[in-house]
Amino acid sequence: MKPPASKNIVASISQVSLAEREKRNRHRGCVLWFTGLSAAGKSTIANELEAALFARGCQTFVLDGDRVRHGLCSDLDFSEHSRHENIRRVGEVAKLFSDAGFICLAAFISPYQADRRLVREVVGEKFVEVYVNAPLTVCEARDPKGLYVKARTHKIKNFTGVSAPYEPPLNPEIEVRTDKLSVAGAVDKILGYVQKHFNVRRQASRAKPAKISWQDW
Ligand code: ADP
Repeated sequence: MKPPASKNIVASISQVSLAEREKRNRHRGCVLWFTGLSAAGKSTIANELEAALFARGCQTFVLDGDRVRHGLCSDLDFSEHSRHENIRRVGEVAKLFSDAGFICLAAFISPYQADRRLVREVVGEKFVEVYVNAPLTVCEARDPKGLYVKARTHKIKNFTGVSAPYEPPLNPEIEVRTDKLSVAGAVDKILGYVQKHFNVRRQASRAKPAKISWQDW
């Protein structure tokens, strides 16, 4: 880890330990890091999985490009340098969530192996790389946001898989082939892993989270 730029940073000591947080949550915290091409299914699967975990009483949060690109990373574009910095920041935030005992689901193309390796180092043994894998042709046929069309007609520059590289994970903890598995199948596969390694209960205790507003409290 890089030392802070200022020499006057003194760590404060939390009175609540991670073990206490995890005991209260009844599961361990972790970072599920979804990587893959645009339209491979990262956000779809992360959001469905979050609902399944939430229904099992877990503390969860999804981080994705839409969430961070408007705020935390609004100063960054899609150049190679900005992509590195985007993933570095998101990795640090994901680590804070796991320190808080949450299951953090981070869905980012994160095309560079070196960036993902850095996040793995920052997060430690609670980092789970989930390779959401579908061939480029399948992603391009799905094109839910019309981004591939724009990339092919040069309206978007530096588009992963078309005009910018994607370096596939060499040794991911989990791989889901979304051209072969359904969304539900992919969720089940990842859920099985999380149940085994992070002490998540097997049965849902309630249905999918209901849509409620704060007035309902
Ligand atoms: P990403 O976050 O990787 O860019 P999205 O989840 O936003 O991808 O979009 C993936 C699209 O592909 C969605 O429209 C989704 O409904 C569709 N899709 C079709 N089959 C699958 C599958 N097996 N897994 C995930 N998404 C799928």
